[in-house]
Amino acid sequence: MTYEVVWFKRDLRLRDHAPLVEAARHGTVIPLYIIEPSLLAAPDFDPCHWTFIHRSLAELRDGLAKLGQPLVVRQGEAVEVLNQLHQTHPILRLWSHEETGNGLTYARDRAVAKWAREKGVEWRETPNGGVVRRLPSRDGWSRLWESRMAAPIAPDVPALAPLTIDSGPLPSGRDLRLAPDHRTLAQPGGEAAAHATLGTFLAERGHRYHREMSSPVTAFSSCSKLSPHLAYGTISTRQVVQKLRARIAATGDKQIRAALRAFDARLHWRDHFMQKLEDEPAIEFHNFVRGFDGLRESDHDAERFAAWAEGRTGYPMVDACMRCLLQTGWINFRMRAMLMSFASYHLWLHWRPVGLHLARLFVDYEPGIHWSQCQMQSGTTGINTIRIYSPSKQLLDHDPKGIFVNRWIPELREGSSGYPAPIVDHADAVKAARARLAQFRAQLGVRREVEAVTQKHGSRKRPAKQAKKRSVKAVQPTLFDA
Ligand SMILES: Cc1cc2nc3c(=O)[nH]c(=O)nc-3n(C[C@H](O)[C@H](O)[C@H](O)COP(=O)(O)OP(=O)(O)OC[C@H]3O[C@@H](n4cnc5c(N)ncnc54)[C@H](O)[C@@H]3O)c2cc1C
Repeated sequence: MTYEVVWFKRDLRLRDHAPLVEAARHGTVIPLYIIEPSLLAAPDFDPCHWTFIHRSLAELRDGLAKLGQPLVVRQGEAVEVLNQLHQTHPILRLWSHEETGNGLTYARDRAVAKWAREKGVEWRETPNGGVVRRLPSRDGWSRLWESRMAAPIAPDVPALAPLTIDSGPLPSGRDLRLAPDHRTLAQPGGEAAAHATLGTFLAERGHRYHREMSSPVTAFSSCSKLSPHLAYGTISTRQVVQKLRARIAATGDKQIRAALRAFDARLHWRDHFMQKLEDEPAIEFHNFVRGFDGLRESDHDAERFAAWAEGRTGYPMVDACMRCLLQTGWINFRMRAMLMSFASYHLWLHWRPVGLHLARLFVDYEPGIHWSQCQMQSGTTGINTIRIYSPSKQLLDHDPKGIFVNRWIPELREGSSGYPAPIVDHADAVKAARARLAQFRAQLGVRREVEAVTQKHGSRKRPAKQAKKRSVKAVQPTLFDA
């Protein structure tokens, strides 16, 4: 007797799960989740990730049990677990979605592929969204993305044959000896929560999305907050896109249409950014443009970093966002960009330790989006306009009544003297950042590399000529206080 093993990774759902449906068509299914110690020990991991995953797995296990065979959970490195399973339950095929994860999951997938080849196990992987594996060129990528999103949703999973196999415990964070999860106000995981979140967004919350996404006062309700669900695959991008487009087609209201179209564009961006890491895994660790190596590497200031990371820079908007993140694990795009920009330009910190801290704070940590965005907001991609946000202007524009900052900074609310003075002077810090950048961007090597990065990773939405012009401009950035 042989088995079809379905390996769940960042696709913790039952619906629109092609590998599970296909595996069930081929034979007797073992649905498997592997808790990998190396991933739990990685510097980008936080117990808040496990809280979300755990809840999603519990629901998945129940759903699979109703179909006949509960989720089998094992702890250990992937090759080791698969090898042990193979000895007791010979694996004919291994089924999974393609994963664009961090460097560890990339190396682990290569090790699993090698193991599978050696054991004669066929590993079938299915795309898990719009990211294209072994993409030869960015030309035509958007068309491919559209065809992926328009493809039919996978049919419902049929009944599964019950097996005589120990399902194994589903350990809590404490069982795994993880540190306590401090994100006490974070969103819950699970497929049901994902669909409920999408439902309320389309029905009401998202109707002013394009106008309210940038302010942290309104964003918690007006943004979709689907990010952790998309990151752990409790819902697929295709499911979101298809329901969204049906909603757009059904509404006669211009404002709702504009709001939902803006949201549609973000879903496209999601895969556009993830494609960068898929095409070049090294951007998790290295500058997109290697000519920027040395820009900040030797300037790490531990005190500045700690003040930023703990929300005590003396800039209320920066500190409120950080303190909010420490409890909720979520903040909207503009505030993430401001946090990153402040760390990069005002405090002159390298994006890697800053990005690791944010990765641990975000429940929705998605390596492909995250590292591309961290580099983009710290000016090392070469192809994006450099933006230095003024935290004071962000406060005036997006929280003029101080609702958000007062909520998260009790010292301000209470008028106590405990709130620190600004850690750096805005004008001086921006001036110094400009001067340092100017030194690097003048280098000929940087200019040449920018062309290559544009070709490899740049959006093809603009005509090639314009993109070329833009890329050159990007090396001589307009610095502005957005
Ligand atoms: C420094 C930095 C780091 C980031 N790290 C992450 C991360 O680890 N995980 C993550 O999901 N997003 C990340 N983002 C992108 C963005 O901020 C979040 O996707 C968004 O705030 C999530 O909230 P939402 O689901 O309500 O988004 P919505 O505005 O409702 O958008 C819907 C979905 O579109 C995608 N999306 C939205 N904005 C972007 C964007 N600018 N780039 C790429 N995809 C986008 C996300 O999947 C999001 O869930 C980062 C942004 C910055 C500036």
